[in-house]
Formats: sequence, structure tokens, C-alpha cells
Amino acid sequence: MPKKQVSLKPFRNIRKCELHAHIDGSIRPQTMVDIAKKEDIRLPTDDSLELDPDTLHGLIKFRIGMDLKTCLESFKVTLKVMQSYESIRRITMELCEDLAKDNVTDAELRYCPTLHIQNGLKLDDVVKATLEGIEEGKKFGIDARLIFCAIRDFPVAENMKLVRLAGKYQGRVVGIDLAGNEYDHPPEEHKKVFDLANDMKLYITAHGGEMKKLFNKTKQKAIIEQGIKNMYTLMRECHVDRVGHGVSMMYDKNCMREFKDRGLTLEVSFTSNRQTGAITRYEQHPVERFFRFGIKTVMCSDDLMLCDTDLSKEMRKACEHSDLSINDMEKMTKYAHDARFIY
Ligand SMILES: [Zn+2]
Repeated sequence: MPKKQVSLKPFRNIRKCELHAHIDGSIRPQTMVDIAKKEDIRLPTDDSLELDPDTLHGLIKFRIGMDLKTCLESFKVTLKVMQSYESIRRITMELCEDLAKDNVTDAELRYCPTLHIQNGLKLDDVVKATLEGIEEGKKFGIDARLIFCAIRDFPVAENMKLVRLAGKYQGRVVGIDLAGNEYDHPPEEHKKVFDLANDMKLYITAHGGEMKKLFNKTKQKAIIEQGIKNMYTLMRECHVDRVGHGVSMMYDKNCMREFKDRGLTLEVSFTSNRQTGAITRYEQHPVERFFRFGIKTVMCSDDLMLCDTDLSKEMRKACEHSDLSINDMEKMTKYAHDARFIY
């Protein structure tokens, strides 16, 4: 139960900055259905004859009790409808519109171009389609840039290729992220990828410390230790400017202190962390602790459709389940603006 009920409107009124939103997790369900019909793509259904957007959304959105690996399965579905130039352009443009409707005026959208070439699209065309979507999105009053996600279970060489591709579009592509299965692939596996991105003066963010809390105490201890270790590796060896999630830091004050002293920014997604099981109750979320400790903490949506949320809802939820206030959210918005990847 929330500590208090808070109205959504004041959060909608803040001019916001979204730093962590996955394009392939933020597609309108109706658009998925439209594209599936147009391109003759099979999507999961409830076996009724007509593919219905609400049913589809219900089938693939994240639910409490999932873990990171299960959540990642939903992307296999969304990626099916992001394999053509037109679909990628449309989805990006609509995401800009949806963010703008929530009074987001500045955004960094992320995805992995390599995941969009299953039907033969060229990598350059994947990028151009996204950039065209962003250009069109400007009419809604939003500025957006791209971050490429290197994927943890991809070979290092594949992710290096992605960094070089980012370099080709540097300015509009501003940063590199590391995303995917944190359980089996710690960040040091991709150290060379981070080194290259750093040499190329790309900004760097990475997912880290978002593994599920377990009830088995021995395994839980190992997971917590791994999460903390990953956070240290990211800070000390991977040149990060920001980190996504970082929930594991709550178990290690020294880790929090180092994160703060390095002046890094933490991208927090309240709903996503509950769904992937990084926290088991909203009240447990360390966002307030991090913020009061002095860490530059910013609220983010992660996946608008899959998490069934938006930035205002994330801010409201954080305030409902802690002693954070709207003033704190305004301060976080300032942190977000300051931590943008701009040249
Ligand atoms: Zn994410």
C-alpha cells in the first residue's frame, strides 16, 4: 500500500527530461497490431480471430514476479514489428509524441540497431529510420537523441561494431549503453567496448545492479555481491557517466559513496525494478536513500509500454511510496537536464 495518495497532475506539469527509455519497450499496442497486419507478422494472441491491442499488451507487458531474464523475453515479440524502415520510423516518432504528451521536452532514446536487421535491413537504414522518427517528433516539441545498447550476450566484436556505427552518427547518436542479461555476463566481459566508446568520446551509460532479490539466502548473498561488484567494475573500469538502476548499491554504503564522489548520475526506474524483482516491495526501493545521500538520482520510465508507465507516473509512484516530494522530483529533473549526453 502507498504511504500516501498523490495526484498525477503536478507531475504532468513539470517540463521533464527522459534519460532512459527503450524504443523497443515503448511501442503503442495498436501500432504493433497495425504493423503485424500490414507486414503479415504473427504475434502472440489469445486465439481469438482478431488480434486485439489490449489483449496483446496484457500478454507481453511485465508483471510482478517476473525476473530480468523473463522480462527480456517480451522484447522478442516487440522486435518482430521493428524490422522495416517504416515501422522503426513510425514507432520512434510515436514515442516522441507520447513523451511530449507527458510534457517531456528532452529525451534520450535507446535501442540496439543490430536487433533490427533480421529481415535484411541494413544497419545504416535502421539508424536513419530512427533519426527520421526523431526529426518528425520535433513537431511535438521534443528534442531527442539516440543511445545504442550493446548487448551483454553478444560477442564483443559485434558490440565494437555497434560503437563504430555510433561514431558515424555522433552528435545525434550520443552514447553507448550495456543492456541485457546481467546474471551471466558481468560488465568486464565488454571492457574493450567501453574503452573504444571512451576513445571515441561517446558518452557511456550501462545497466547494472538490477538483479532479482531471491528468497534463498545463500543464492541471494551471491546475487547481491555480484551486483555490487558489477557497480564497482562499471565505475572503475568502464568509464561510465551514468548507470541505469544500480539497486544493488543499497547494500554497500562504500559503493554509494564512491558513486556519489565520482559525480555520476543514477537512472532510476521504480516500476521496472519491482517487475524484474530487483526490489520485492515498492517501499523497499532505495531511491529516497540514494537521493538524500547526495547521489544525483533521476527518475526514468525504462519501457513505457512493457512497464505500463510514463515519467509522471514514475515520479508519482516514487512520492507515494517514500517521503520524496514534488520539490524533490523537480530537483531530480534538474539533475536529469545536467546529465544529458550533449556535445
Ligand atoms: Zn533499461
